[in-house]
Formats: sequence, structure tokens, C-alpha cells
Amino acid sequence: MANQDELFKKIASHCKEYGFIFQSSEIYDGLSATYDYGPYGVNLKNNIKQYWWKSMVQMHENIVGLDTAIFMHPTTWKASGHVDAFNDPLVDNKDSKKRYRADVLIENYMDKIEAKINKEITKAKKRFGDAFDETQFRATNPRVLANAEKHATIAKRLATAMTDGNMEDLKAQIEEYGIACPESGSKNWTEVRQFNLMFSTQLGAVAGEAGKLYLRPETAQGIFVNFLNVQRTTRQKLPFGIAQIGKAFRNEIVARQFIFRMREFEQMEMQFFIKPGTQMEWYNYWKETRMKWHQAIGHKAEDLRFHDHDNLAHYADAAVDIQYNFPFGFKELEGIHSRTDFDLASHEKYSGKKLQFFDPETKDSYVPYVLETSIGCDRMFLAAMSHAYTEEIVPDAKGKDSTRIVLKLHPALAPIKCAVLPLLKNKPELTSKAREVFNKLKYSFDCQYDEKDAIGRRYRRQDAIGTPYCITIDFDTLEDDTVTIRERDTLKQERISIDKIASIVLERTDMGQLFA
Ligand code: ATP
Repeated sequence: MANQDELFKKIASHCKEYGFIFQSSEIYDGLSATYDYGPYGVNLKNNIKQYWWKSMVQMHENIVGLDTAIFMHPTTWKASGHVDAFNDPLVDNKDSKKRYRADVLIENYMDKIEAKINKEITKAKKRFGDAFDETQFRATNPRVLANAEKHATIAKRLATAMTDGNMEDLKAQIEEYGIACPESGSKNWTEVRQFNLMFSTQLGAVAGEAGKLYLRPETAQGIFVNFLNVQRTTRQKLPFGIAQIGKAFRNEIVARQFIFRMREFEQMEMQFFIKPGTQMEWYNYWKETRMKWHQAIGHKAEDLRFHDHDNLAHYADAAVDIQYNFPFGFKELEGIHSRTDFDLASHEKYSGKKLQFFDPETKDSYVPYVLETSIGCDRMFLAAMSHAYTEEIVPDAKGKDSTRIVLKLHPALAPIKCAVLPLLKNKPELTSKAREVFNKLKYSFDCQYDEKDAIGRRYRRQDAIGTPYCITIDFDTLEDDTVTIRERDTLKQERISIDKIASIVLERTDMGQLFA
């Protein structure tokens, strides 16, 4: 774990050092859980959004896009259940004065039990070598069995307490398991109480409750209230989806772990409207489709897993998370929820307006069911970074071993697709030729011109921001209009003619290949 902590710190500091992510308002010592995306960060983030948007809107005839306002009529949040039920259980440690989410304290305790199981398995793997059968070991080893049972019992009890909003039982569990404050080691806890996660603000000059507005805690409600507008104007029939990317705000009780849990973040959500009764079929379809989307970008199958929800949200009849193996363990990256007709039916009730679909086949009108896929763009960014960050030994310009940090991002996500580098800075014939090449390429994709420092250092700088291709202009270029193209991961260098650069780089960095 220590190594993983170390890795996580390295990723965060790499993000800062290379202009991916900065702490918000850093000159004023920052604002907790709020971050700004730097020059390379914004490119990477835009590419992630594009990958998602294209996979939804461009690749599906029956999914259309939408961009709704962050502010919505306050009744929206009454209808959606957020005013009454968008709470997290909060607990304070009386000695350290630190604030925690009670369910997260219990989940962390469960993680420790899981770690014990994994330790037993690693030990046994070493002992038995190739003959080791993990499934059998899990089913028979008494220590593993005891811990697995303990884990399952706690998971069930936690889920029940969360579903019932039973704050007393959460407190009782913290005491029974002997959970201590991670900062101080103290077990002196306050009562557990509900804390609403929505930020509120005031509308214009209207005072008091009448002017109270919320910053949306999810983008989904903007889609629901526009269901009929979109359906009528696009003449879609069920099943069809509406996709949206936008900011969401949550007053998280504790926001650690860098961009994993922020108070202002971005969501990519798609609501798929379906005929009631078909939800399990679509639930399975979207589970599989979304998992493939993650794998296509290069994430390893073993770093992704499904995690069924133990306690269902007030609106769902089935829900699963796609978890990613972040440096701090498997955590939620995306949620897939079967939301039934909860949202549309509730908006019908509160607004007094019909939100129904007229089915031309059955000739009746009904409130559609909804299948949602919801992913945090920032969490996807962190997953991409965690996957890409690599330290490796490679030969330097003189053939000696040296360590390089390279971001092995999928080329379609890379912030800069290609760097144009004159071999030497003080040779005007090389720099002017390199500028000429750069000025041609910049029409096709994001590229960068760099002439400062020795060529080896420039390659390393491009590796560190994940640039898949470096083009070097040398004296031969002046003779025969050829350049070397260096590939980031293999370090292979090829000689190609200038007029081939654009098509080669375009072909190899094209996002379209991911959908094939
Ligand atoms: P968690 O259990 O981690 O708090 P959640 O279950 O509340 O997440 P959802 O309401 O399902 O999250 O939101 C959908 C997606 O939005 C999540 O899968 C996650 O990727 C992203 N997300 C939610 N909260 C945050 C946050 N505070 N910071 C960054 N991304 C977030």
C-alpha cells in the first residue's frame, strides 16, 4: 500500500508540474476539493469528453445531445428527492475535531478485512506456485472464510442502515468495530447525523426561502424536465437516449484523494428512455457496452470490475458501479442505474404536466422507464492518468540507461498528438524548416513546436505529457524533405517524408478506431 500511496502522490505532483491540474486559487492557499485544469489537462479532459460524446451521440442514431442550465427551478429538487434525501451520514471526532462520513469509515474498515484476505491469498500463491487454485483456496481456507463472512455481514448491515437512514446503527457499528479516527487514533465520536450535500444560493434580490436556488448536484434532472421537448423536436421513439456533459456540485463532507472527490466536478450522463418491463434487458446491455468503452481506451480488464450496489438509491430498482483500480484501491468510476419511472412520474406530479410517450404500436400513453449511465469526467481523467503514468529505464541519447517518466495515454486521448523539434536551436535553416512543418501540421491536430534544450531532454518533456509522436528536423531534411518520427512507447524511429506526417499521425491518433 505504501508504494501505491507513493505512486498516487507522484501522479498528483506530475499533474501539477506538467500543467495538467492546479489547485484552485493556489495563490490564496487553495480551496479544498476544487481544482483547475492546466493547458495539457484541458486538452486531455476535452478528449475524454469527446470520446464519451462520440460513443453516445455520434455512434447511436437514437441518442441525442443536450446542454441544460446549472440553475433549475427549485421544485425540481423537491421532485427528484434531493431536498429530502440527498444526504450523507456525518460524524465528528471530538478529540481531533475531524469530520468523516460514517459509511466511509465503515467501508474503510471493510477494506482492511479484504486486505487481510488478499494477504492470505498472496502468501498461499507464493507457497503453492503453479499448483495454486485461488477459487478452491477461497472456498476452503478457514481464515479466508471467516474474514469473508465478517465482510459480508458488515456489508449487509451497513446497506440496511443506509437504506433505512438509521443513524443510530451507524454509530453503534463504529463503536462495535472499534473504529478509530485515522488522524488521532481517538474513538471519541459524536452522534451520526444526516447532512444534505446540495449547495444553495439566492436568486437575484428575492430574499429568504422564496429565492433559494440550488447548484445542481447531478446533470440528470435537466434531461428529465426536457424529456418532451427533446422527444417532440427529434421525433424519437422508444427506446432513445439523451446525453449531457456538464458541471455538478456537491458539498462533500470530506473531499480527499485529489480529483477523485471534488465539490465542483463534471459529469457525463446519459438517460435512456425505455418501455416499462424492458429495464433488465437494457441494464445488461449498458453494463456490457460501458465496460467495453473503458477497455477500448486501453484500461486493463483486471483494473475494472462491476460492483453491485448493496443499498439502492431511492429511485433505483437495480444499480451497479464500474470500479477502477485507482492507486488507492478499487473505487467507483461510473454508475449504471435502472431509475424506473421515478423521476418522470415525480416531475409529472409536482409540475402538473404530462411527461408521457404515446406508443404508436400499442396506442397508449405511458411514463417511460429510464436506464442511466453516469460517469465523472474528473474520475475518468484520474483513471487515465493512473493507467498512463509509467517510470521506466530506457537508453538515453548515448545508449546509457536512464529513467524516464512517460504518460502512456491512448494516442486518441493524448493532449498533444505530435511535437516538431529542430535538431539544433542555433541553426536557422533547421528552425525555419521546422516552423514550416509545424505551421502545416497545426491545421490537422494539436501539435507543439519546441527548440529549447538538447533533443534528448525535449523527447523526455514530450514523454512526460504523453505526446505519441515526435518529429525531428535534421540536416538530411534540408536535402531530401524527410524527417524522423519517434514513437513514444516503443522509442522506434522511422524516416518518413514530410508530406506523409499528417496522414500517419492522424491515422494513429484517430478516435474513430476506438469505435470499430
Ligand atoms: P460516491 O459514492 O463516490 O460518492 P456517488 O455514488 O454519489 O459517488 P453518483 O451520484 O452515482 O456518485 O454520480 C455519478 C458519477 O459522478 C460517479 O460515478 C462519479 O464518477 C462522479 N462523481 C460523483 N461525485 C463526485 C465527486 N464528488 N467528485 C468527482 N466525481 C464525482
